[in-house]
Amino acid sequence: MNILTQDKFDTLRIHAGYKPEENQFASSVPIYQTAAFGLSNTEVANQIVAGQQPGRFDYSRDGNPTVHVYEQRIAALEGGIDAVAVGSGMSAISFAIFNVAEGGGRIIAPTNIYGSTLDEFRNFFPKYGINFDFVDEVNDFDRIKSLIQDDTKAIYVESVANPSTEIADIETLATIAHEAGIPLIVDNTFPTPYLLRPFEYGADIVVYSSTKGINGHGNTLSGLVVDHGQFDWSSGKFPQFTEEEFNLGDEEQGIHESFYSKFGAAAFIKRIRMKYVRLLGSVLGPIDAYFVMLGLETISERLTKQVASTTAIAKFLAANEHVERVYYSGIEADNPLVPKYFPKGVGSVLSFELKGDEKNIAKLIGNVKIFSYIPNIGDAKSLIVNPTRTTHREIPAEIRQKHAMNNQIIRLSIGLEDIDDLIGDLDQALAKAFE
Ligand SMILES: *Cc1c(COP(=O)(O)O)cnc(C)c1O
Repeated sequence: MNILTQDKFDTLRIHAGYKPEENQFASSVPIYQTAAFGLSNTEVANQIVAGQQPGRFDYSRDGNPTVHVYEQRIAALEGGIDAVAVGSGMSAISFAIFNVAEGGGRIIAPTNIYGSTLDEFRNFFPKYGINFDFVDEVNDFDRIKSLIQDDTKAIYVESVANPSTEIADIETLATIAHEAGIPLIVDNTFPTPYLLRPFEYGADIVVYSSTKGINGHGNTLSGLVVDHGQFDWSSGKFPQFTEEEFNLGDEEQGIHESFYSKFGAAAFIKRIRMKYVRLLGSVLGPIDAYFVMLGLETISERLTKQVASTTAIAKFLAANEHVERVYYSGIEADNPLVPKYFPKGVGSVLSFELKGDEKNIAKLIGNVKIFSYIPNIGDAKSLIVNPTRTTHREIPAEIRQKHAMNNQIIRLSIGLEDIDDLIGDLDQALAKAFE
């Protein structure tokens, strides 16, 4: 990397990880649309497959130059040791959970998380011997401590919950995790690294759906696993990092290695790449990596405007006669977690509870003209959705009740349109919804 790590966020998002002089001085990161790469001669081939030839690749499932620039850029922005890009946010979450709890174990997680994540945690991972202990309140520290057992392998949270925007107290949660010898994994999709970098508060692993605000244009699915490189995987609680791996050593020379002995602080992220991406697939393609990097170049300007517009819309809705309640931590003046973690704002998503019944919901959604009825967030376009019927339909009734997640909840993702037009659009649609 030719960019010094002390460079600031706005410089890194444009330049980190890319060496123009090694790419015909191309201004834009080239798309290496190729499945495989030449190995030169047998001696060089041996070095490439052993990872001893930086900048050389063999097969795009193991690594691709375009995707590699994106991974290096994200690691720099996040302040991590390394990042791995994958085909979607769900892949990133799945790989991180499997990697930390492989072979079985328990994980502590809150119930108010993304619908597919909760579905996976409740109904899919247990079939692989990975069981979850759920808390209804992400910052219920006493309850979290009481749930930690010998085979608990991690605490998993969303930094800003989808769609309630409740904020996790990452610093306290990281301390609790580390006292128990386990890592804290954070889904930081909602804030993006522009608004929050969880490693600064002690998180160990960050996962993203970069489909959302990192890309910012709603055109590509992608995900990321990012490693802080500070967690000690050698305690014995995580044998997958300390047991010998045939692939890592050299049988002929009698060299035996584990992920920990070979990669030390980078054991987790190397294992994500060499086991999960390489063996289960779910790679990010070079064209998709190019699109995300293009979006990433304007992340600061986009988020700054989106936070301002989201705050204005939250205040408008809070004063509207047809709105029962607004959920946007960004306007909670008495919430100490807001200034601590989010001095630049909480993000571009809010939700609110509409008065009336589902007929009014249908009329509201049917009458918006600028907002699009689309189950996504973090787009340049403003989006509206009814979560319990779409993005969060997997969440069972008893959990919905605890988080005021009823059929009257509407989630908005605020884009880059003119703020007066957006408020005007909501104003007229709200009026029509109750005509
Ligand atoms: C969208 C989303 C995901 C899933 O990401 P995909 O890219 O759709 O697979 C995970 N977590 C959160 C918070 C999300 O909003």
